[in-house]
Amino acid sequence: MDQRLIDALQRAERMLVITGAGLSADSGLPTYRGLGGLYNGVTAEGIPIEQALSGSTLRDNPSLCWKYLAELGKACLAAKPNAGHYAIAELQRRKPECWVLTQNIDGYHRLAGSDPARLIEIHGELAPLYCQSCGAVSEELAGHLDKPLPPRCEQCAGILRPPVVLFDEMLPEKAIETLYHELSKGFDLVIAVGTTASFPYIAEPVLRTRQAGGFTVEINPQDGALSPFVDVHLRDRALDVLPILLSHTLAN
Ligand SMILES: [Zn+2]
Repeated sequence: MDQRLIDALQRAERMLVITGAGLSADSGLPTYRGLGGLYNGVTAEGIPIEQALSGSTLRDNPSLCWKYLAELGKACLAAKPNAGHYAIAELQRRKPECWVLTQNIDGYHRLAGSDPARLIEIHGELAPLYCQSCGAVSEELAGHLDKPLPPRCEQCAGILRPPVVLFDEMLPEKAIETLYHELSKGFDLVIAVGTTASFPYIAEPVLRTRQAGGFTVEINPQDGALSPFVDVHLRDRALDVLPILLSHTLAN
């Protein structure tokens, strides 16, 4: 382990852990493109998966969009958080100013015990469902997946949806606000885990922290957009290396 990284881990107070699909993949979760029944990113209906999982498809052809939302939902319910998620949650307990920014919609950070007050789910999450017509919040996801799709509201028969950001939809305003508010305060250490950082709001915290003199780390077996710009790139799987990083911080 790089000594500069160990020093940074021990010294850091303001920390940000950014997580992407690679962390969920370590739980056995498929990424969008790897979903069962999909081939080369094209659905059985012959449209790109990005189009099937879009806000406009949810509006115009809700049962098609829901076919793939349900696949995602079943995959998430069938897997569970891994050692990487638990190490991050413990890191947050040890470092009261450690934040998590995730692209993942599986809810595993919450399940692993991450503090929801320091968790920014920038692409939303798959549960609980709510009614697009009357706003009523429905029961948990699992109860709906084996019934006819799309799931309907018990009160008004409107179509339910998860609070997830579909492919052509805006990011949740509160999440963006929180991210940029915390970013303006600065971070001593940013660790990007399993993300290709193809979104500007994922890359920016790393680049800004580096520029301001903070320490930046990438955990990713592959090279991504961030790799040339981080202080340390660990080419390991998140679930192996995060518990090791945790062991270099002090327990209370
Ligand atoms: Zn309703």
